[in-house]
Amino acid sequence: MNENKNLHLFEVFPWNKNFELGIKRIDSEHKQIVKLLNILATTLTHPEENDITNILKKLTEYSNYHFESEQKFWALHIKDETLIHKHKQTHESFLPEVYKIQEEHKNKPLYITVEAIITFLIRWITFHIIEEDKGLCLIIYALKKGYTLEEAKVISQEEMDGTNKVLIETILTMYEGLSSRAILLMRESNARIKAEKELKRANKKLEELAITDQLTKVYNRRHFENVFSYELKRATRAKSLFSIVSIDIDYFKQLNDTYGHQSGDAALISIGKCLNEICKRFGDFAFRIGGEEFAIIITDSKDESAIKLSNKLQEKLKKLEIANKNSDISNYMTISIGIVSLIPSTKDNIDSIMKSVDKKLYLAKEQGRNQIIN
Ligand code: GH3
Ligand code: MG
Ligand code: MG
Repeated sequence: MNENKNLHLFEVFPWNKNFELGIKRIDSEHKQIVKLLNILATTLTHPEENDITNILKKLTEYSNYHFESEQKFWALHIKDETLIHKHKQTHESFLPEVYKIQEEHKNKPLYITVEAIITFLIRWITFHIIEEDKGLCLIIYALKKGYTLEEAKVISQEEMDGTNKVLIETILTMYEGLSSRAILLMRESNARIKAEKELKRANKKLEELAITDQLTKVYNRRHFENVFSYELKRATRAKSLFSIVSIDIDYFKQLNDTYGHQSGDAALISIGKCLNEICKRFGDFAFRIGGEEFAIIITDSKDESAIKLSNKLQEKLKKLEIANKNSDISNYMTISIGIVSLIPSTKDNIDSIMKSVDKKLYLAKEQGRNQIIN
């Protein structure tokens, strides 16, 4: 959609042919007032005090200029002081009314003041042009046809008796334009909401992608470091239990060598699946931290949670019977597990905790593999 179309879309007060008096100068001045009013309305989309004050100033200045210019015109063509004076009075009531609204809304948000002013202006301009300016205009037309002033006033009055119909027609036409624009806006707004939702979904997907190990679908090493540091701090503050489980496949080299790298990958995928299945709880996180090394971080848990999860993992794997016939200890793939559980203090950090869990894992390997050391 181009900019012009957009501006048009936000016209709250569309110009209407019934506003046209047939007097070029006055019509173009009225058009300018309506244009300024629409510009004032567009400031509502981004209400900034400076913009609003500026455009309000322009609008009042221009209205003053126009009233004077219009008064001169009426006075020049209609020699009826009472009538001209009456019209002048309606002009004079205009600005005080705007100031009154500003005063009344002094302590409210700016956009509410602007809305109130716009509502007032729309009413005032519509009625003033259609009911008052038009009446004077009709007098001038009758005078030009050669009628006397008194006759012209009567003719104008008679024609003006049909004003209600003109008013209704004008308002309905304007309403029609506005409602179709409102529908367009609603449609645009819905499309935007939909696009925003899709963008959010795409962003979430991207975020997930950035923290997920693509082969095994558990979290990756980078996320491991972030979660570790965040959860360790949290557990230190809360004096709650923090557990780390370190997992390493036994004789994985043999599995690769015997069945090929692809079978090795398939085995890693199976472990990822098992890990995701057992780490369903909100405070459990599974990671691949290296080639055939995995880890679980367990937070907000009971003492035995880490051992329970480790046992579950070994049972699940055992059931899968992933072949590793050249393993020194079994015909199937096995894993060794080291566990460290602690209520951390400020002197604990990632390195120190990883060192102690590596020691446990090393012990598990040393003592024959396929076991859990805590
Ligand atoms: P241990 O029981 O002492 O842990 O012996 P291991 O053979 O499991 O350990 P080692 O560190 O000797 O070998 C690990 C092997 O894991 C070597 C490497 O090729 C393999 N590996 C690492 N990443 C991947 C991977 O993404 N896919 C496959 N298929 N193999 C991998
Ligand atoms: Mg290893
Ligand atoms: Mg290994």
